[in-house]
Amino acid sequence: MATPKPIARLISHVILDLDGTLLNTDCVVSQVLKPFLVKNGKKWDSKKAHKLVGKTPYEAAAVVLEDYGLPYSTEEFLSMLTPMFNEQWCNIKALPGANRLIKHLKSNGVPAALASNSPRSNIEAKISCHQGWKESFSAIVGGDEVEKGKPSPDIFLEAAKRMNTNPPNCLVIEDSLPGVAAGKAAGMHVIAVPSVPKRTAEFSSADEVINSLLDVKPEKWGLPPFSDWIDDTLPIEPWFIGGPVIKGFGRGSKVLGIPTANLPAENFSDVLSEHTSGVYFGWAGLSTRGIYKMVMSIGWNPYFDNTEKTIEPWLLHDFGEDFYGEELRLVIVGYIRPEANFPSLESLIERIHEDARIAEKALNLPLYAKYKDSPYLRNSLKEDNSANGNQSVIDSK
Ligand SMILES: [Mg+2]
Repeated sequence: MATPKPIARLISHVILDLDGTLLNTDCVVSQVLKPFLVKNGKKWDSKKAHKLVGKTPYEAAAVVLEDYGLPYSTEEFLSMLTPMFNEQWCNIKALPGANRLIKHLKSNGVPAALASNSPRSNIEAKISCHQGWKESFSAIVGGDEVEKGKPSPDIFLEAAKRMNTNPPNCLVIEDSLPGVAAGKAAGMHVIAVPSVPKRTAEFSSADEVINSLLDVKPEKWGLPPFSDWIDDTLPIEPWFIGGPVIKGFGRGSKVLGIPTANLPAENFSDVLSEHTSGVYFGWAGLSTRGIYKMVMSIGWNPYFDNTEKTIEPWLLHDFGEDFYGEELRLVIVGYIRPEANFPSLESLIERIHEDARIAEKALNLPLYAKYKDSPYLRNSLKEDNSANGNQSVIDSK
């Protein structure tokens, strides 16, 4: 993660992008395109999805038509797809950390604006599905309210004007390259939170590049800090996944001396796209053995430069034998840190052990310990419909 360049502590206002920054719009894009492509005799390729990020609807449509060789003009394609997208607006989920950030700014009296290339009416429709969002923004600027959209600075300059402040006082948070360029061209400070993985290097013009909104540190910018971290951990809304333990890359034990019980990532593509990469922790249930403390990485493991996002839980217990094929259930209750690269294998191993110490200690806190009793951990996968590895949400609070 890039360290922010030193700045004068002048920040008083925050300007947020919407799609890809606060909302997981990409998820809905694939949900709409997948069935459309099937109807047209094609197969959705999730590896091509990154090509659509940060593009206007027109540009994105042109990319899809070319990639899949569809027999439509861009205009025809958009006229078929647009109503399908409009129906999905309320299905777009907030990205991890978005609600937390919006609430934090509001409760600390930091004025925040929303600035998006989307037309104003689309922005209003999307945010109306998220409780408390609309009233949290001092200003909202849509692409149709200025002469030119991002990467032109117009949208951000207009947002600053409507908040009665000057550009150097504004901190922009953006997921796309055109958005970062627009923020810098407006003379503002910019945090990039790239929605396309493994592209951090392309965002070097931003003042800081972070992995997700969970990693925003407002105090670096002279703004009030978050106060919800507890013993180096951040409590999150718990989520539940289960499936058979697979061998994965086999390097957990061999290279690292850390035997991870990997889950089949292909069964969890929806869950994985909802959750940001990073190190998490929680409780693990093995149907025939019991319940154990667990620390887990989600992501690409930059040190090994994986091509697929994986889930690699490490059960903090000495089993003395493998348990491939056994049913594993996880409840993930907290976040420790973003994914990071390391200069050496030793430093990676050292950090994983530190993550384990943090998890081990934190799981004794009542806030996290209570999830050990979650019925989800004790149920056998064969007893319900989660055998496909689909996410089962059980409210164990
Ligand atoms: Mg965006």
